[in-house]
Amino acid sequence: MTLKINVFTIFPEMIDNYTSQSILGRSQNNDLLEVKSHDLRDYADGSHRTVDDSPFGGGPGMVLMPEPVFNAIDSVKPPRPLILLSPSGRKFNHEVAAELAELDEFSLLCGRYEGVDERIRTRLCDDEISIGDYVLAGGELAALVIVEAVARLRQGVLGNIDSASDESFADGLLEHPHYTRPAEFRGDEVPPTLLSGNHEEIRRWRKIQSLLMTSRKRPDLITKRGGLTQEELEQLKQIDKHKN
Ligand code: SAM
Repeated sequence: MTLKINVFTIFPEMIDNYTSQSILGRSQNNDLLEVKSHDLRDYADGSHRTVDDSPFGGGPGMVLMPEPVFNAIDSVKPPRPLILLSPSGRKFNHEVAAELAELDEFSLLCGRYEGVDERIRTRLCDDEISIGDYVLAGGELAALVIVEAVARLRQGVLGNIDSASDESFADGLLEHPHYTRPAEFRGDEVPPTLLSGNHEEIRRWRKIQSLLMTSRKRPDLITKRGGLTQEELEQLKQIDKHKN
């Protein structure tokens, strides 16, 4: 099934350029993904195709006007939900990506300037997502982050070799470290277990590394998944014993 995403923006080339490359480009060629960008300026009145105006009440910057955005949505009738990219939205993370990956279509609206006229948010959009607690110049990067993170979770997008199921966050933990050739690099050796060919031992090593990395770097994720099981605590204790 093709995942269809419509993106509304004043910079459609930004969306088209990125989504035509690499995994997203391949997915579009294989009909697993269809990203359509729409230029909001095509729906603006006048020869200048103006989409912004100064804020009522004064203050710096410009605001994306309601007319071109409402006109665009009325004529394209894009798939819903229509999601506004905004620093005030609910925070994007693996769970939200997984939620969107369950849908077969949705649309994204990129703000610019000081943001969008409030009536766009309240009357037109169904949801509002932020990609983090910082402010970007526009919603395009946020839209691309969402498109890529969601597409990677769709069946077939990563192919059989790269599965998203054992990556960071998929099971509430960070992923274990990876090594490739050479087995020794500048005096630093690859952990012997990974060279042993013993798949059960490798699986165990990776799980323990994943637990260790998460406990050290993101203890909040351990708390979120309800702490460590007795068996996991024992496994980590064994590691500490070997180190001392
Ligand atoms: N004045 C707004 C504020 O303080 O919240 C920021 C506007 S920002 C300069 C312009 C546009 O970039 C926003 O309308 C939104 O579409 C996008 N944007 C900026 N930061 C974002 C973020 N963290 N997540 C999602 N979109 C963001």
